[in-house]
Amino acid sequence: MSNTDQAHIRSVATHRVDVVVVGAGFGGMYAIYKYRQMGLKVQGFEAGGNVGGVWYWNRYPGARVDLQSIDYSYSFSPEIEQEWTWPEEFSGQPDVLAYQNFVADRLDLRKDIRFNTRVTGAVWNTDRALWTVVTDQGDTFEATYCVMATGPLSIPKDPDIPGLNRFKGQLLRAAKWPHEPVNLAGKRVGVIGTGSTGIQIVQELGPKVGDLYVYQRTPSFTMPMRNRKLEPDYVAEVKRNYAGIREVARNSPIGGTRPQSTRAFFSVTRQQRRQLLEDGWRNGGLALLGTFADLLINPEANEEVAEFIRDKISEVVRDPVTAEKLKPRGYPVFARRPCLDTGYYETYNLPNVHLMDCLTDPILEVTERGVRTQAGEVELDTLILATGYDGLTGALLAFDVIGRDGRKLNEHWKNGARSYLGLMMEGFPNLFMTTGPNGPAALANIIRISEHDVDLVAGAITHMDKNGLETIEPSKDAEDNWMSLVATLAQRSLVSKAKTWYVGANVRDKPQGLTLFTGGFGKYRELCSAAVQDGYRGFVFGQKKRAGSA
Ligand code: NAP
Repeated sequence: MSNTDQAHIRSVATHRVDVVVVGAGFGGMYAIYKYRQMGLKVQGFEAGGNVGGVWYWNRYPGARVDLQSIDYSYSFSPEIEQEWTWPEEFSGQPDVLAYQNFVADRLDLRKDIRFNTRVTGAVWNTDRALWTVVTDQGDTFEATYCVMATGPLSIPKDPDIPGLNRFKGQLLRAAKWPHEPVNLAGKRVGVIGTGSTGIQIVQELGPKVGDLYVYQRTPSFTMPMRNRKLEPDYVAEVKRNYAGIREVARNSPIGGTRPQSTRAFFSVTRQQRRQLLEDGWRNGGLALLGTFADLLINPEANEEVAEFIRDKISEVVRDPVTAEKLKPRGYPVFARRPCLDTGYYETYNLPNVHLMDCLTDPILEVTERGVRTQAGEVELDTLILATGYDGLTGALLAFDVIGRDGRKLNEHWKNGARSYLGLMMEGFPNLFMTTGPNGPAALANIIRISEHDVDLVAGAITHMDKNGLETIEPSKDAEDNWMSLVATLAQRSLVSKAKTWYVGANVRDKPQGLTLFTGGFGKYRELCSAAVQDGYRGFVFGQKKRAGSA
């Protein structure tokens, strides 16, 4: 083959765009739309077969959002707000995914997304000031900007249990649930994991399967969701008031409209506290968390709420031994992701539901027939893994990201994820993250954060365009200072006091520490906005090279 032919093949195989967006969940979908509206040429990549991200993959029985759908929806399009109607206060996965597909159709997003395509590498070319992005389909793209909308929960994690591959029954993963219907009626089913996912699966399957064996290592605190159908009058009122609803959410700690009291826990009597907690429990959702201002910083207050929930477990679960085993102890309530349920504790009153306590009787192995603990083997038809994710960093460390001067992201993050504002990293010019580590990611409404981050990146690109700037990255000082702030806030917060995916505790050899901004979404927005207003404080820009210069 001649040199000319080879050059031709290379030029055909390499596509040039302005922005590459990795991931087509809520963040990626909005990013594609926003940057396209700015007149940029955008290419999206998505490992799944369609839009949706975590909602595309998580089709497990009972999957449901745990923020009100009115809040857990896009705010950028008043038209879409009016056109879409949520049927329930907390929507099930099919409705969330239907909404995402509706938005993708409405904005014609799919034409700019390559599905079933995984990005396998991203390398910064300093001379040409662009990212070269390669995929598992053999494509190469060059882009001025690379936006990682890979989400905090996209790399599922199998448990470290020997023998998983030996199991001859049906092995199902919650995070990669089959697209075709799964009939579990009458089956002996095991579920490993009792986080948000496991709890939803257990309460859904308990009344439907033959026998359900729930392998619980750390019990979670869960509160009643009290879901309801949304009445037409209520929906009409919401649609009239969306602008106000969004404003409240943008300024709130969790990016939603749930009321947050400013009352300190011990500023009222024990009897009043009890009454307020009862009210929160009765109102459902995350109302309990919003009842007092200091539940995540005052350990005594936190413990009293934990005891309140333990009492509730005893009120519901008839067998006192099972009730005791379900009671979380040894870590603060809300330090792990608070779960919302519909009859979870009641499920343990069913005669076919068996709580397997892995703290006193750990799983030794998965066998051909089922699960073996010290107490013996339980034979199963189906084993479901609800064992979580390599959160926050897993997706970006799953492939090589190489920045300026050959700097590798896995080196930059070897002692834990670092970033400035959760958005960018020193040494990785023009590479943005949405809902990245050290932002509020897992602690607030991911859609509000995604919109905020995508808009901030859009503003930075516009600023660069206007001012003849070619590259943007944070200074080392800015990144260091942001990391100090994140660490200081984390020390004050009880969120760092539990072994969770928030702190990397669920992944062997992962650097431990809370890489989340715990100051609340509203405060995060203020800090980002102040940096932008202050002439993009903390960011370093590179001038565009003049035509003809090297
Ligand atoms: P998770 O909270 O990390 O829970 C994983 C569970 O698997 C834990 O109970 C863990 O026990 C258990 N586990 C792992 N390895 C085990 C082993 N070898 N033996 C026994 N148990 C083992 O994961 P998740 O439930 O998938 O939730 C992850 C996040 O997804 C949530 O925090 C939330 O942010 C999000 N989510 C949200 C919703 C919603 O909106 N409703 C629903 C589902 C998920 P240990 O704790 O002892 O390690």
